[in-house]
Amino acid sequence: MKNIMFFCIPAYGHHNPTIAVVKELVNRGNRVRYYSFNEFRDKIESTGAEFISCDMYLPEVSEDIVSGSTTMSSTEMTIVDLRTTARMDGFLKEQVEEFQPDVIVSDSVCFWGKLTARKYKIPMVVSTTTFAFNKHSSNYMKSSFSEIKDLIKGNKLVKAELKKLEAYGYHEKSVMPLVQNDNYTDTIVYATKKYQPCSETFSKHYAFVGPSLLTDYKPDKEHDRPLVYISLGTVVSNKPDFYKKCIQALENEDVDVIIACGRVVNPDTLNGLADNVKVYQSVNQLEILSKANVFLTHNGMNSTSESLYMGTPMVFFPQINEQRAVARRAGEMGAGIELKEESVEGIHDAIMEVLTNEKYAKSAMECSEDFRASEGPKGAAEFIETAPHVMPEEDKKMIYKEVIPGVLELVFWCVAIALMIGFKSLTGSDKWWIVAIVANICFPFYKKLIAKIFTLL
Ligand code: UDP
Repeated sequence: MKNIMFFCIPAYGHHNPTIAVVKELVNRGNRVRYYSFNEFRDKIESTGAEFISCDMYLPEVSEDIVSGSTTMSSTEMTIVDLRTTARMDGFLKEQVEEFQPDVIVSDSVCFWGKLTARKYKIPMVVSTTTFAFNKHSSNYMKSSFSEIKDLIKGNKLVKAELKKLEAYGYHEKSVMPLVQNDNYTDTIVYATKKYQPCSETFSKHYAFVGPSLLTDYKPDKEHDRPLVYISLGTVVSNKPDFYKKCIQALENEDVDVIIACGRVVNPDTLNGLADNVKVYQSVNQLEILSKANVFLTHNGMNSTSESLYMGTPMVFFPQINEQRAVARRAGEMGAGIELKEESVEGIHDAIMEVLTNEKYAKSAMECSEDFRASEGPKGAAEFIETAPHVMPEEDKKMIYKEVIPGVLELVFWCVAIALMIGFKSLTGSDKWWIVAIVANICFPFYKKLIAKIFTLL
């Protein structure tokens, strides 16, 4: 039996996959204490774990964010994360002393969980509710212009918050190592090896356990009329005009439509607009997906996995970079198409294409079989109980193969810069930029050569 501390940020998408894992850990006789927020109390307590409320440590955010009518930018989220870490420091010191955890399980973007494990040298397992992102798989994540602008603009503010954390004994130079996945940390990913992009580039510290769901529902797709399900998740759902377009797009089709419009839009303003459409704030998504024939989704990691688990093909409508990565991967699996145009006609055509062309449903069902065969919460619980995991020899080699090419690339540019600086004394000419151009031309070949050598080793 182990004492296990769980930490998560206040978001459904990050909590949901952990619930079945916690239940499994409790059933196996472990003592689990989950540091979370009042909104999630019932779900957590239903697993038999001890719930500890952390609401009082959250810094104040604007009314609009509390009501859900706007969402936080990446910079705002990082700042809230860092401030919460500072506010929880004293409390968590007492908790660690009293509970004596054997292992800490922290959400991948929950800084206070990760930093507590590091500060008190407690074995840590990271719970990653998106795909795992390294330099290979992050190619899937294309940021929009406004997301890049936010990151650049927010850099100074984040640095200032990191500086404040030093007073609490956390000496982090940047937030990147706190949010990125690396090959040394024990990490659970709720995707199968087949579904995770570039899974072969991750070390044995990763457990790709597949979706972690508590459900008895199974795909059940035969009804009188096809069922269309529409939801943009629990975070970015304030889009009443979009839901109206969906209703218009499908009002004359021989289909049933269910829309989960989220907590901001009032369903009464949409119900009654068409006979074949029913709108709710929130639904039992797994139940609906088990019956749905197409899902128009924002491609949150959970919604997309749940859809594939239930063999439901999708129309992809991602809103942020992480969701674009998930949509791209689900598209590669053949389980749907992107919504190209946010118009009545665009919505209609995309939904009807997925409904009428059987290849999407077939691919989604193949994913469902792969997901159902995965280890799920059992595999995750075993991985947590047996942490920390020792790095096998083959993985050490993998890390050398990642680190040394990076160092050699750095050496290349150091030599190039030294040559630029020394160009005049070597040649007597001021045309140092010739070296810069030659270096730029040679670099891709040099990089390829290194990659080749290291694949042969
Ligand atoms: N969900 C639900 N009912 C709804 C809408 C969503 O139970 O009406 C659940 C859904 O099953 C999923 C989670 O909320 O587990 C949404 O997580 P996801 O990662 O897809 O998106 P997010 O809300 O974090 O953007």
